Parts: sequence; structure tokens; C-alpha cells
Amino acid sequence: MPVFSKLLSLTGCSGRQPMRQYSAAAQSQLRELLGKQLREIREAGTFKAERIITSSQSTQITVQGSDQKILNFCANNYLGLANNPEIVQHSQQLLGKYGAGLSSVRFICGTQDIHKQLEQKISQFHGREDAILYASCFDANAGIFEAILTPEDAVFSDELNHASIIDGIRLCRAKKQRYKHRDLADLEQQLRSSDARLKLIATDGVFSMDGNIAPLARIVELAKKYNALVFVDECHATGFFGATGRGTEEYDNVMGEVDIINSTLGKALGGASGGYTTGPAELISFLRQKSRPYLFSNTLPPAVVAVGLKVMDMLLSSSELSQRVQSNTQRFRQAMTKAGFTIAGENHPICPVMLGDARLASSFADAMLTRGIYVIGFSYPVVPQGKARIRVQISAAHTEQEIDRAVEAFIEVGRSLKVIK
Ligand code: PLP
Repeated sequence: MPVFSKLLSLTGCSGRQPMRQYSAAAQSQLRELLGKQLREIREAGTFKAERIITSSQSTQITVQGSDQKILNFCANNYLGLANNPEIVQHSQQLLGKYGAGLSSVRFICGTQDIHKQLEQKISQFHGREDAILYASCFDANAGIFEAILTPEDAVFSDELNHASIIDGIRLCRAKKQRYKHRDLADLEQQLRSSDARLKLIATDGVFSMDGNIAPLARIVELAKKYNALVFVDECHATGFFGATGRGTEEYDNVMGEVDIINSTLGKALGGASGGYTTGPAELISFLRQKSRPYLFSNTLPPAVVAVGLKVMDMLLSSSELSQRVQSNTQRFRQAMTKAGFTIAGENHPICPVMLGDARLASSFADAMLTRGIYVIGFSYPVVPQGKARIRVQISAAHTEQEIDRAVEAFIEVGRSLKVIK
């Protein structure tokens, strides 16, 4: 009997058919389990359907099933660079010169001169010693805590930090402490009673559901008092927040005082993909040795690196775009507040229009779409029960007329749904 058939008979399988039946049973069990949960998600009204865009990412987009242009107010395209012709052209050039990809992780044969150039420009932009690229900021967050913290250390994390920070912290062996959202008294009490070797405070710079800001200056003060390090995730700040777009530390007047910054190339900085950590040289060198998403995942492709390089050149030479997104934000927030809406958050282009009821948020967003404005309603479990909202995101690329059109549509729908008078 051939060896393979012998093995199959020993395991109770006598050919392809029984094996398929065995796997079909397991697969139908999986389908049943997941199908039930999917039905529950749909019944709860929290199923996330994906709208299919048929144009490039922009303030005006087309979606499948319609030729009509709609005004987009829900991308993280804060600087409006996602389809910038100069950036696209640079990306095409480097695609031609450096090829589609590296087929390698960085330390084997995946580091090109352009990767080093981008890391240098990112460090220069943030005024830091060095930077390390990842495939995403999710990876940067997944890779940092486990690499640098041991069971002798402790990490203090804001309870509303982004999922990737929460997951990154889960992977590490340090003592995990959560403090109440932006609650400095709670943070101080926990720092005071800790005898950990390294203490690391971890916070989002800007919290993306509320558009509110970490009290960074006071966090830095506490860090000094209790000899702790500060880690900030700047995904919703880098490139556009603060006077010259340097982020939350610039906004809160503590430039250079944060120890570790993680951020993304997938939002304001061209919107392609990629993430990074920037900070002290020893930290970055150490991450290159130890950080698992860096060591065991493919290098960023040249066309994506090119986007980052061009964006960094633009931001290092001018802060005009960040000023434009700030003035657009002010225009929207002021007009909406005047019309009687409650806008959460502080001076940030994430403008949550608070509605409370989940079904109201969803029907409000649908009514906005019939008026050519694309916005999304967020409800539980993404935000707390009873705090449903429409999250509007403003871009430097929106014209004043586009902002005004959105406000007019909000007023019309708001009146018809009796949200405002
Ligand atoms: N951190 C925050 C605060 C985010 O909002 C996001 C993206 O949603 C990430 C990290 C992950 O970034 P990336 O898309 O580069 O993985």
C-alpha cells in the first residue's frame, strides 16, 4: 500500500472523499457559529456595510451605482493630499525606478536608500533623533510595548486609547494600568503608587471618536514628577494639528517633550499606508532588533515610501495646508454651533455632531446622502450608549463653498428631523 494511503487508513481516512467530508463538517460548524453572530450584529443595527468608491479619495467622490459626485466629509484626508497630482507623479516615478516591492523584510534585503531617507525626514519633521517605518501604525503600536517593557515595568494607558494601543499593551509583559479618560488625578494616583522600574504613560494625542485632545502639557508635568516616559499616538494630529502641523505637543506647547511618538502615513500624510515610531536613537535601534511587526513583515513598497517622501518635503517647506484645515474647521464648527447643533471636541477637524439616538444618527446620515453629502453615523458599541453622532471630518481641500453646502444640508435635515429649530 502506498505510504500516503496507509497513513490515511491509519487516521480513519481512506482517500480524498472522507477528508473532505471531515473538513466540510468543521466548515459548516464554523459557518453556523459565525452566521449566528452576523445575524445578531445585523439585528443590533451595528453591521458595517462598505460603500464602494469608484474614484480616487478626495473631497468629491463617486460611489458604485451612481455617476453623481458626492461631497465627502468622512475621510482622514485632513490635508487633502490623497490624490495630489505631484505626489501621485512622484510615486509613479519611484515605482518605475525601484520596482513594485522588496519581497523581503527590512533586515534581510528590504532596505532601500528611500526607506532611510523617509526615516530621516520623519525624524527631522518631528525634531527627533531617529525613526523606524512599519507597514502601518497599527503595527508600530503592536510592536513597541512588547519590545521595550518587561515584567519589572508598568504602562499607564488612557481607557479610551485606540484599539491598536490596547492590543499592543496586551502583548507586553509589563504591569498594565488603565487610567480614566484624560483624568490626571487618577493618572497621578496610579503613578504615585507604582514602584515599577520603567513607567510609561500611553495616550492618543487626539481621540478620534470625540475629537478631543489629551492634556499633554499636564501629562508631561506628571511624567517629570514621577520619572515616567510619555508615549503619544499622533495618527489624528501629525501634519495638520498645532500651528505648523507638528501635532498635539505643538498644540499644547510642549514641543520636544514627548519621549515616543507613533503615527501613520495613512491619514493626513498622503493617505496611502505605513506607520512609524520616532524618538531617541537607542529606542529606534532597539526596535529594529526586537520589534516583531518590523522584523517579521514585508518592507513598505517604494510607491508608498515615495508618497511619504513627497509629503514630508511639502510639510517641511510650508505649513499652509495645516493652516487651511484649521480655518475650514473653524468655519464649520462656528456655523454649526450657530445653527444650534452640539459639536463635540476642541478646535479639531474631527467634528462630532452629537445626536444621541442611534437610529436618528443613521437616518440623519442617509438624508444627508440624498443631498449629496457623505457623512457617517456612529453609534454603540463604537461610541457609548446614547451618544450616537455623525462624525464630520474637515479637510484642507474642502472649499469654503463646500463647507457651507454641508452646513446648509445639516440645517435642512436637522430641521426636518427636529434636531434643531
Ligand atoms: N492609532 C489611531 C489613533 C488610529 O486612529 C489608527 C487608525 O485608525 C491607528 C492607530 C492605526 O493606523 P494605521 O491605519 O496606520 O494602521
